Amino acid sequence: MKRISILGVTGSIGSSALTILRNHADKLKLVSVSSHSNIQKLIDIVRLYKPDFAVFTDSTLFYEKFGSYEITIESVPVYSGPDVLKRVTSDTTNDIILNAISGTAGLLPSYDILLSGIDLALANKESIVCAGDLLQNIASSTGAAIIPVDSEHSAIFSLLSKIDRKYLESIYITASGGPFLRRNKETWHSITKEEALKHPTWSMGQKISIDSATMANKGLEVIEAHYLFNIPYSKINVLIHPQSVIHSMVETYDGELYAQLGPNDMSLPIMNAIFYPDMLYNDFNRFSFKNTLHISLEQINTTQFPMLLYAYQAGEAGGYFPAIYNFLNEILVNKFLTDKIKFSDIETQVNLYLQRYFKNTDLYSNVNVDSLFLLYKEINDQLA
Ligand code: NAD
Ligand code: MG
Repeated sequence: MKRISILGVTGSIGSSALTILRNHADKLKLVSVSSHSNIQKLIDIVRLYKPDFAVFTDSTLFYEKFGSYEITIESVPVYSGPDVLKRVTSDTTNDIILNAISGTAGLLPSYDILLSGIDLALANKESIVCAGDLLQNIASSTGAAIIPVDSEHSAIFSLLSKIDRKYLESIYITASGGPFLRRNKETWHSITKEEALKHPTWSMGQKISIDSATMANKGLEVIEAHYLFNIPYSKINVLIHPQSVIHSMVETYDGELYAQLGPNDMSLPIMNAIFYPDMLYNDFNRFSFKNTLHISLEQINTTQFPMLLYAYQAGEAGGYFPAIYNFLNEILVNKFLTDKIKFSDIETQVNLYLQRYFKNTDLYSNVNVDSLFLLYKEINDQLA
C-alpha cells in the first residue's frame, strides 16, 4: 500500500485524484486531505474515503460554522486553525503528497513537503515557478522527488525517461489556444468572465481556466519546465494544438521528434505521478480511435498572447522574476474574477509592473521564502 495525502482535494485535480483512489483502492491508503473553501464537499469526501484525518485551511469560516477548530466526522478528526496544513506536510508516514492547491497558496506546502523528505506529486505549478531552484535544492538535500502532474510536464517526464538525456535537443509544450485563439484582439477589453472560464478542451478550476485564456498558463508552464527539467529557455518551445491530444514533444539531437498522446483527462498524469516509477494498467480512460483523429499544430501568435512573451522575459531574468510574473498574474486574475478590472488589463498590467521591477537590481538574486512572501504582499498592496 502506498500512503498518500491530497492537498486541495475538493478541486478539479483533487477530484480526478479521487478517481485514481477508487480505481486502485487496493494499492493506496489515503492518509489525509485538505480543502480551503468547500466544507460540505470536504465532509462528503471524509465520509466516503475515510482518511485518517482532514484539514480545512480557512480557519475563520471553520470557526464560524463549528465554534471550534476541531470536529469529528464518523470518527475522522477534521482540524482547522493557523498552520493546519503542517499536520499534513510534516506527516512522514506519507510516501507521497499530491499538492493540488491552486495558486501561490501552494508554495509553502510544496516547500514543507520536500523539507520533510516526502515525495511531491506536483500539480501546483505556481510553487515551482516561484521557487524552482530552491525547491530543487531542498529535494536533493532531503532525497524527496518532485514528480510532475501537469499534463505537459508529465508527458515530457515520461519521454525523457525513454531517451538518453545527452541527446535531448529541445522540447515542445503544446497549448490548446484556449477560448480566444481566433478572437479578434480588438474585442479583448469586452471579454466576460463567463467567456473566459469556458475552456474548449479541459474542465479545470477558475484560476487555471483564466490563465489558459490569457496564455499565462503556458507561460507558467514554460518556467515550470525550465525548473523541473533543467532546460534552458532557448530550448523550450510552445506550439498551438487545439485538439489537446499531443501533450508535449521532445526533439533529439538527430532531429527526430517524440510525441506523447493521450486522452485529455488529468487522471492519467495523476495516476502516473502517484505510482511513479511503476506503470499501472488503466482500464477507465483509454484513448479511442473510433473517430477519425485530426491533429493540427501551429505557431503561437504572441501578439494575440503576449503573456507568453512576458513569461520568457521573467524566466530568462531569473531570480525573483518568475515569482513576480506569477504574483502579478494571480492578483490580477483575482481582480478580473471579482469584476474590478477588464480581461485585457491582466496582460497590460503584468507588462507594466514587470518592466518596472526589471529595473530593481536586488531582484536578480536567489530567492528565499520569507522575501517571496514580502514581495507578494508588496505587489498586492501596489495593485490594490
Ligand atoms: P481548483 O480551484 O479546482 O481547486 C483548488 C483546491 O485548492 C481546492 O481544494 C481549494 O479548496 C484549495 N485551495 C484554494 N485556495 C487555497 C488556499 N488559500 N489555501 C489552501 N488551499 C486552497 O484548482 P485546480 O484546477 O484543481 O488546480 C489546482 C492546481 O493544479 C493549480 O496549481 C493548477 O494550475 C494545477 N493544474 C490543474 C489542472 C486541471 O486540469 N485542473 C491541470 C494542470 C495543472
Ligand atoms: Mg498543463
